[in-house]
Amino acid sequence: MSKSRSFEINQNLASPNRNITPITTELDHLGRLKVGGCLLSELAEQYGTPLYVLDETTIRRSCEAYRESFRKFYPGESLVLYASKANSSLCISNLVASEGFGIDVVSEGELLTALRSGIPGEKIVLHGNNKSINELELAYKNKATIILDNQHDIDLLRKIIKENDQPAKVMLRFTPGIECHTHEYIRTGHLDSKFGFDPKELIKVFNQLKDVSFANVLGLHAHIGSQIFELTPHIDLADIMTDVLKKGRDIGFPINDLNVGGGLGIKYVSSDDPPSIQDWVKTVAKSISDACSKKNLSLPRLLCEPGRSIIASAGLTLYKIGSRKDIPNGKTYISVDGGMSDNPRPITYQSNYTACLVDRPLAKSDEVVTIAGKHCESGDILLKNVHLPSSSSGDVLSVFATGAYNLSMSSNYNRIPRPASVIVANGESKMMQLRELPEDLLRYDLLPDRFIAKG
Ligand SMILES: *Cc1c(COP(=O)(O)O)cnc(C)c1O
Repeated sequence: MSKSRSFEINQNLASPNRNITPITTELDHLGRLKVGGCLLSELAEQYGTPLYVLDETTIRRSCEAYRESFRKFYPGESLVLYASKANSSLCISNLVASEGFGIDVVSEGELLTALRSGIPGEKIVLHGNNKSINELELAYKNKATIILDNQHDIDLLRKIIKENDQPAKVMLRFTPGIECHTHEYIRTGHLDSKFGFDPKELIKVFNQLKDVSFANVLGLHAHIGSQIFELTPHIDLADIMTDVLKKGRDIGFPINDLNVGGGLGIKYVSSDDPPSIQDWVKTVAKSISDACSKKNLSLPRLLCEPGRSIIASAGLTLYKIGSRKDIPNGKTYISVDGGMSDNPRPITYQSNYTACLVDRPLAKSDEVVTIAGKHCESGDILLKNVHLPSSSSGDVLSVFATGAYNLSMSSNYNRIPRPASVIVANGESKMMQLRELPEDLLRYDLLPDRFIAKG
């Protein structure tokens, strides 16, 4: 089926997740694309391609939308944590912290990145369904909150923390049993998910943690999935979470934190219509406060963990077009200088994207093409059936909404180095991550002695 994927410059300034392009996207006097005041073709020239570009204004506007909406719609305290697995770096951690956010991490690497960027441990939460001793110790030493996912976490903490030590601050993660419509790999709320305690186990877990000296249960956590366009699952979640909150408090835990996870979707193609950040927060805040008043519970501090909706639409990837293959009576392939190593989402989740030629974004399209990556997999296709003006080798192509789960999921497949990453604002671009070189990939490569030719 041929699907047209027309490029559009949206200016939904209030809720950047509802735009395909960063909110600072504009045309110069020659009709060429600029983002953050920087001409995209000049960025490609200056830094080379493929290149990840992030627009600072879009990230800050998304943070502000979450922060201000909680202030407006939730009468209690709140804290937004950026889910750093979407795109983790010193610069982004520092940026979201400057917006008053905390950070959610799932590994020693992400934890170290957040700490080194200057975020105090108190504003970090550690997730993971198989945490190592090192991860738990580093989180504990830095006073981060640990989200207990399973019995193994409890057993390890009991080992690490001695009788007279400070107890660890913990939250219990459970599977809420909510089905939502998203790709099965990014669904987490259904009962047979690998994450969190089964709700039927919770009473046992509460009883086990009742009088222990190594852990203070301060909160509850649940996350239903990612790239979600519906609001109803969040209303259902509020009911389920406040039931557990009541049980925990009845048993005697001073539970004050409810963490409802992340999951708000973004617009990748023009047919996507995600709710705004404002509507998402309003729904979550209202359903939690309504459920609390109905169940006669004092309002908890409300936490959430957006990743994609903070950073996806701030990002784009620039590629140079190379070869072309016209199959008689068939497809036209246009190949670019990156692919599944810098964007594994199409081959993993069949994700759709929007693209355009950066110097002729609005030119009339005169062909329908398939944009292929350069890797040795037939499935390494970035976009299918894209309407583009005719292009030639060397033209710069932009793929939009690549700020989340691209760099963070990138690989060196085919020994292709990772792209550089730059952040743009007010006409200025700054490097956030150096481009890898083929030499870098050999740094960890060893030739054992007996393979070295003698003589
Ligand atoms: C992935 C994840 C998030 C962020 O999800 P988004 O869809 O990127 O907002 C938040 N919390 C947890 C526990 C996650 O696993």
